[in-house]
Amino acid sequence: MMHARTIIVGGGSAAMSCALQLQEGNQEFLMVTDILGGRICYSDEEKVNFGAYFVMKNYNFAKKLVQRRTWINPFSVTFHNSDNEWFNTISLHSIKRLPQLLLFYRALYEFIKHYQPYKERCQIMDQRKAMAADPYIEEMFHKPASQFIREKRFFQAANDYISKFSYACTGVDMENISALDMMNCCMGLGVPIHRFSFDRRAMETRLKGRIRYGTVTDVRRVDDGFVLKTKEGAEYSADNLVLATPATVTRQLLNLDIPLRNTCKLYVYHVNAVLKKKFLSKEMNVFPFESEIIFTAKMDDSSYLIYTRVEDEKLLGRVCSSYQIIGRKAWDKAMYVYGDAYVEQDLGQGLYVAGDHNGLGLEPTAISGVFAANQIIKRYRNW
Ligand SMILES: Cc1cc2nc3c(=O)[nH]c(=O)nc-3n(C[C@H](O)[C@H](O)[C@H](O)COP(=O)(O)OP(=O)(O)OC[C@H]3O[C@@H](n4cnc5c(N)ncnc54)[C@H](O)[C@@H]3O)c2cc1C
Repeated sequence: MMHARTIIVGGGSAAMSCALQLQEGNQEFLMVTDILGGRICYSDEEKVNFGAYFVMKNYNFAKKLVQRRTWINPFSVTFHNSDNEWFNTISLHSIKRLPQLLLFYRALYEFIKHYQPYKERCQIMDQRKAMAADPYIEEMFHKPASQFIREKRFFQAANDYISKFSYACTGVDMENISALDMMNCCMGLGVPIHRFSFDRRAMETRLKGRIRYGTVTDVRRVDDGFVLKTKEGAEYSADNLVLATPATVTRQLLNLDIPLRNTCKLYVYHVNAVLKKKFLSKEMNVFPFESEIIFTAKMDDSSYLIYTRVEDEKLLGRVCSSYQIIGRKAWDKAMYVYGDAYVEQDLGQGLYVAGDHNGLGLEPTAISGVFAANQIIKRYRNW
């Protein structure tokens, strides 16, 4: 049985960030995962992402994992209200909405002022404590976005612009996404965002042969640590264990009886297509929640990514005059986003949980991995 001081299960944003942080802290570890990247699902052949689509400029941890590519131009977006009504980022419509858009940007400014220090705290304290340290953040975690929008009085601007951007990121409506997750996504309306690529080989090299591929099926606590088994028949033991698997997998592996936030579904189609005329003028089209199509985005090679919240290829006919599917990916559990159930990160005696259980997106998950690593580093520094 192979032994490591720390085993990280999973290979997504949380796991890779945990691994890099442990490496920086000169800690011995092994990563056991079935897929490196997880919901970072970049296709080398098609040069598109079938999972996470963009990184923001202020993703200080997630950007260590990926290579930033094309800037996503926020002025090249068409916002669709219905089949008959749509407007571009800069239009007479946006001038009409200017007073409410200013209210949104004021709320965003206030959000970033609280969110940046929250991210800093999350590196060294669990998210529960980090939230409790600032009542603004704690309230945003529990509050539906719709309520926040009413309180901040930018309802019409939200209806026309902000909710569509948030919907494009998550496939979730304003009643069901928290104010924290909505504003976290909508930072992309204020902070530059880029598409990215992910180089699996380069990550394997950076992690210096510390990755073992396999699906963990069994986790047991023993007197002096943990024993893990994989479907492929490998066994590992460790003093510390970081479970950076999706929340449903973590709950099952640890046999935890805890509520989780519910997941949204996202379906991604990569197509060579001719879009219908009204979808052609800008690089991106975004839609209201009533539309099962979430967004379309033009790629550098003029192909398109089209995201839907229902798995139905026929939906593509709503935006395309003609299309040919090059690639597709179904995410039946895309993000943990519904509700405000909270998952503890430090389960004691060397057991840590990391991932997007309490906050969605590449950056919060990366930071949750850094937190687990920092706890382990601290444990041995104090020896
Ligand atoms: C379609 C889509 C678009 C998105 N767009 C964005 C975006 O533009 N920007 C953004 O910031 N976020 C985006 N997100 C969200 C973001 O991708 C996730 O929040 C984040 O990647 C989650 O990282 P994670 O490490 O927690 O989980 P994951 O990436 O899911 O990693 C979990 C890892 O565990 C492994 N694993 C699972 N079970 C086992 C097992 N039994 N044994 C061993 N290994 C196992 C998996 O293979 C995987 O490597 C998007 C998500 C989706 C699905």
